[in-house]
Parts: sequence; C-alpha cells; structure tokens
Amino acid sequence: MERLRSFVHPLIILIVFESVAVSLWLTRNNLFYLFNFTYIGSAVALGILLFNLKYRYARRIVQLLVGLYMLVYLGLICRENMQIEGFWYYLFSGVFEAATIHYAVAKIFGPLVFGRGWCGYACWTAMVLDFLPYKVPAGQRRKIGWIRYITFALSLAFVSALFLSGTGNMEHIMFLSFIAGNALYYAVGISLAFLFRDNRAFCKYICPVTVFLKPMSYFSLLRVRCDKDRCVSCGKCRTVCPMDVDMTNNSRKRKNGTECILCMECVKNCPRKAL
Ligand code: SF4
Ligand code: SF4
Ligand code: SF4
Repeated sequence: MERLRSFVHPLIILIVFESVAVSLWLTRNNLFYLFNFTYIGSAVALGILLFNLKYRYARRIVQLLVGLYMLVYLGLICRENMQIEGFWYYLFSGVFEAATIHYAVAKIFGPLVFGRGWCGYACWTAMVLDFLPYKVPAGQRRKIGWIRYITFALSLAFVSALFLSGTGNMEHIMFLSFIAGNALYYAVGISLAFLFRDNRAFCKYICPVTVFLKPMSYFSLLRVRCDKDRCVSCGKCRTVCPMDVDMTNNSRKRKNGTECILCMECVKNCPRKAL
C-alpha cells in the first residue's frame, strides 16, 4: 500500500504537465509543446517517484534531466535564448513563444503554486553549482542581495538598447548573448561559491531572475510546514538548509522564506518527521 501511494503524486504531476502540453499543442498548433512539456513533466514525475522511494539523488536526477535538456537542446541546438534577456527580447517582439512561455510558467506565475521549484529542480546554472563542495553554506550570509536588481536592470537595458539601435540579425545576437551570458554566470557562480563557501551564493545575491521568483514564491501554495506538536526544536533542519531558511516558523514572513528551493533536505533530516 505504501509503495502504491508513492505513485499518486507523480501521476498527478504527469497529468498537470500533460494538460499544459496538450492545451499549448492545440491552441498554438505546434507539436513542440507536446514534446516539451511531456518530457519535463515525465522528468519531474520520475524525480518525485524516486524521492518517495527514498532514493538519495532524486532531485539531482531531475535537475540534470531538465537542466541539460534546456541548456543543450533548447539553448545550444534550437538556439532559443531562455535567459532573462531572451525573455525581454520575446516580450518586446510581442511574441508569446519560447522564453516568454518559459518565464510565465516556471518563473512568474508558476511560483504562486510551486514556489522556487524551478531553482531546486530545473535551473541549469544551479545544476552545475550544486556539484561544488559547499552544499550547506560554511560562510556567513551577506547583505548584498541588492546586486540582483542591478543585474536585472542591466539585462533589461541590454535588450532595450538593441531594440532602440535598430540592430539587424537580432536572433543571432540573442544566441551569442545566451552563450556569453551562461559562461559569465558559471564563472561568477563558481567563483562566488568558493569565495563565500556557499554553492548557492550566486542565487542569493546575483541572479536577476530572483526579482520575479522571490515576490511570487512568497504566496506559494507548496511550502515546507512544521508540525509544532512533533518538533522538539533540535535545529537539525536549519543546519542542512542550503538557503538559510527558518522552516520551523510557519509564517509567510519566516527568515529567508522566499529563498526556499524545495530541495527537501530539511524534511529528510528531521528526526521527528515534523516537516
Ligand atoms: S536563483 Fe537563479 S541561478 Fe539560482 S537556481 Fe534560481 S534561477 Fe537558477
Ligand atoms: S529537525 Fe525537526 S524536530 Fe528538529 S527543529 Fe527541525 S523540525 Fe523540529
Ligand atoms: S532545506 Fe528545506 S527550507 Fe531549506 S531550501 Fe530545502 S526545502 Fe527549503
């Protein structure tokens, strides 16, 4: 019975993704959406199933399946810029395709339901950062989160300047900026991880996408909650959190609440099954 229950959540996820896949396929008359959302839904469902079956690397498998698909297949082979500048580009072009759909689903409206699940299970930048040695931060948290607003503004200014200057061959420029942007993100992300002894330093201070992700995930339906009757305040959960969240506080205003990437490390490590 326990094993059978492990399949229920993956099945629900698969149905949700498949509904999106079929709706977009039929409304946009584009078979790509059927393939794209079926693939991502299957990867996420597999990850949840493996998590339910207590497989240790379940999250990392989803991260690699989705992250590599988006970076290598969509980004490098199909030449779709799925970075934030790609979002601005398609938005300014008035095209509801590729990066605009991706941002709407994963990073703007989706977080109202699944919080920052994108950051825990799909982002190709974090897919690499999570291989580094500081899975749990060994350094102090810094008060430099304001940098994200600068990188956000720079991405917007870059694409605005391209449009205002009337540059030709924009598709090619966006492809080059995808390669350059990713190389820069990896270089800065890896350097900061070692400098601050924190794999997720880039996510905490630099990533421009968090300007969307943080306010939307504040309202997330899906979030870690603490059963106060079971909790013995041992603090183990907080020591394993990569994002410095106080998950024992059930308030929406919990410390670093909008940083939670739903990695479930706190849940796995709670000796009282209170989370
Ligand atoms: S914060 Fe940015 S870099 Fe980090 S996982 Fe989320 S989207 Fe990726
Ligand atoms: S690990 Fe569990 S019991 Fe300990 S403080 Fe966290 S929620 Fe409470
Ligand atoms: S350890 Fe818990 S609170 Fe911290 S990011 Fe992971 S799921 Fe969220």
